[in-house]
Amino acid sequence: MEKIQSIVNEIYEIFKDYNVSKSEIEKRLKLLIFEFKVPEDEAKRTIINGLRRDLNLSREALRFPLTKIADLEPGKGVSVKAKVIQLWEPTSQSIAQWGVIGDETGTARFVIWAKSAKRKVEEGKNYIFERVFVDEFGGIKSIKVTSISEVREIEEDIEVSENWGEIEITGALVSISQNSGLVQVCKICGKVIEAGICKEHGKVEWNEVLRLRGVIDDGERTYDVEMEENCIKELTGLDLRTAKKMAFEHLDRGIVLLELKKKLLGRYLKISGDLKFRTVNVKKAEFFKTKVREEVDKVLEEVKAL
Ligand SMILES: [Zn+2]
Repeated sequence: MEKIQSIVNEIYEIFKDYNVSKSEIEKRLKLLIFEFKVPEDEAKRTIINGLRRDLNLSREALRFPLTKIADLEPGKGVSVKAKVIQLWEPTSQSIAQWGVIGDETGTARFVIWAKSAKRKVEEGKNYIFERVFVDEFGGIKSIKVTSISEVREIEEDIEVSENWGEIEITGALVSISQNSGLVQVCKICGKVIEAGICKEHGKVEWNEVLRLRGVIDDGERTYDVEMEENCIKELTGLDLRTAKKMAFEHLDRGIVLLELKKKLLGRYLKISGDLKFRTVNVKKAEFFKTKVREEVDKVLEEVKAL
């Protein structure tokens, strides 16, 4: 019986994404082995081939089983149904397209190699990526579309988990919340406290931190952004120590918020970080120079050189 269960599990693993139940597999297997006295290995093969025919799947398709994003394992060949969430600017000529895809279980990166010569995918559309390979880099999973892969648009509208994972946004910082700057936060929940009182936890111990809460508009939608000291320092040169000194000298911590507004409000930023619902937890931030701006700078430099 144990042997039967292990064969059932083996077959189930192959077909689990195709709505095949374990009990159905078990029924077929028992019938073949006990009623028809078919040897176990042959019974297994018969069931796999039978299911494959019933589901209209090629042998090839089974070598690259339909897999949910959360179940992607590096090194495996799979097929994935997903929505293209974001396309990034290719960083090398060998890449035709790359970006982020998602399904209801999570997100991953995808790379379409230039050599694979596939039709272009578009943001917001749904596709099946057949015969792709899973890779992992720095804890982020990606699928690779090669010349043996197939990318087809599908009718189905795939719902994407709002836990998007890593994204990159370029847009204007259109507002900075009053909760930004040099603030005191509750040691328990991290929310800003007033006069030593946390709305949730009452009188608590607190930390003094430098942070920014604001909104970035990329021209299509807005994102709430959360930025901590390291990114603020990267952009403005201001760190916790200098912020404290500034507040002390002016006898007012509000001066730090004013400084952040002066340096960052309305500026174009290129940020990357983790998106959860509408909020980006910023990991990296830099000022974004448009091409026009770069060209103007170049002309100015040439003029100066004359
Ligand atoms: Zn609290």
